[in-house]
Amino acid sequence: MTTNTATVDIAIIGGGIAGLWLLNRLCNDGYNAILLEQGDLGGEQTIASQGMIHGGIKYALGGALTGASEAIADMPDHWRRCLKGEGDVDLRQAKVLSEHFYMWSSSSISSKVTSFFASKVTRGRVDNVSKAERPAVFQDNAFKGALYKLVDLVLDVPSVVNALADNYRDRIFSIDWQRSAFSQKADGSVDTLVASDGENAITLTANQFVFTAGEGNEQLCSMLSIKKPAMQRRPLKQVLVKHHYPHALYAHCMGSNPSPRLTISSHATEDGKNVWYLGGDLATYGVVLSDEALIEQAKAELNDLFPWLDFSESEWAVLYVDRAEPKQKGLLKPDKAFAETANNSSNVIVSWPTKLTLAPNMADEICTLLKQNHTAPSGDNVPANLHHFKTPAIGTPCWETLFR
Ligand SMILES: Cc1cc2nc3c(=O)[nH]c(=O)nc-3n(C[C@H](O)[C@H](O)[C@H](O)COP(=O)(O)OP(=O)(O)OC[C@H]3O[C@@H](n4cnc5c(N)ncnc54)[C@H](O)[C@@H]3O)c2cc1C
Repeated sequence: MTTNTATVDIAIIGGGIAGLWLLNRLCNDGYNAILLEQGDLGGEQTIASQGMIHGGIKYALGGALTGASEAIADMPDHWRRCLKGEGDVDLRQAKVLSEHFYMWSSSSISSKVTSFFASKVTRGRVDNVSKAERPAVFQDNAFKGALYKLVDLVLDVPSVVNALADNYRDRIFSIDWQRSAFSQKADGSVDTLVASDGENAITLTANQFVFTAGEGNEQLCSMLSIKKPAMQRRPLKQVLVKHHYPHALYAHCMGSNPSPRLTISSHATEDGKNVWYLGGDLATYGVVLSDEALIEQAKAELNDLFPWLDFSESEWAVLYVDRAEPKQKGLLKPDKAFAETANNSSNVIVSWPTKLTLAPNMADEICTLLKQNHTAPSGDNVPANLHHFKTPAIGTPCWETLFR
């Protein structure tokens, strides 16, 4: 094993959407940035996500726009610019699964919500869908509900991870924490990171270390005795149903709660079938159920909402996954992307996007912190001695792994 030294402007730790987006943004701005990933890229929440780029209306189901709905209103446009190659990050290689997300009610929704959707506030963000325009699955005469179309788009997340990684593959490296460790100065800031991929090792210095490791931020912070910011987990139990119908559906079903009763995204599998990936209240409240009980509940939901479809021959699976976020009072859902300098380590920024959608917003917040910390882009190339390091693979989505 050889040991040598390298210096970069920014070392990003964690390669989900947060780290990958940030790497792209910083390199485009001239920073000499690198990313260190301990597993697969997109490995945890990102590859498990449903790929919806929200305009925020999902949060307005109570009949009013909240902080959460306002903070992300311009995110679909931001992502669309990137998909066209006209944004701050190049996403031209990423695939769009659907240009729209739909919202439907199985019966009549509350008049408060109906009039809210018809109001000026949501104009341009929610449209009523005529019978002729309905997606194929809602063309059946048995469908009696109201259907709306949102500006939200849906992305094929593995292709997003791949596109972001491809843009700067020479700056992404594996890290093995069994053989890696930080050293700190007397004031608590990071002095060096001895980083190893298991075969090669390097003593790394950086103007700033940015933690974008999702749930892994907790352990990274504890390595440096960082108490603030702190993290919270909000668990989900998503249900997957693999079936023979061709219907690709991207939709929220509105029930009586202000959150969606069911959220469905669709994913084509390598064996030519279709998986409906079920989130929403089913996944939030399903965390207390056994897998078997949750699958029974999911079957009952689909039978109730789509009585004209037959899922009796379908395959079922469950994915338990935690959402990692900055700690909120009462375990509430955070409103926006989060980035903060660690309380006792002046060259460490800890960040959670809180939503795939908000990755661009998170990168903006970090760029502001870097300016405040007087961290300027050097324009330097990636240190040559890092090129021996291994490159992490791209994660595999659960609709491919869970049915094997
Ligand atoms: C089921 C589900 C569905 C969702 N659907 C949507 C949606 O449709 N739209 C939306 O906007 N949001 C959605 N979200 C939220 C969104 O997925 C997350 O907010 C986002 O992906 C978080 O990204 P991240 O990069 O912070 O974390 P992650 O994706 O978890 O990435 C963290 C990365 O850091 C790595 N890592 C961990 N520890 C270390 C370490 N010590 N050193 C190096 N690397 C490390 C991990 O291996 C991983 O690759 C969903 C979340 C879930 C769970």
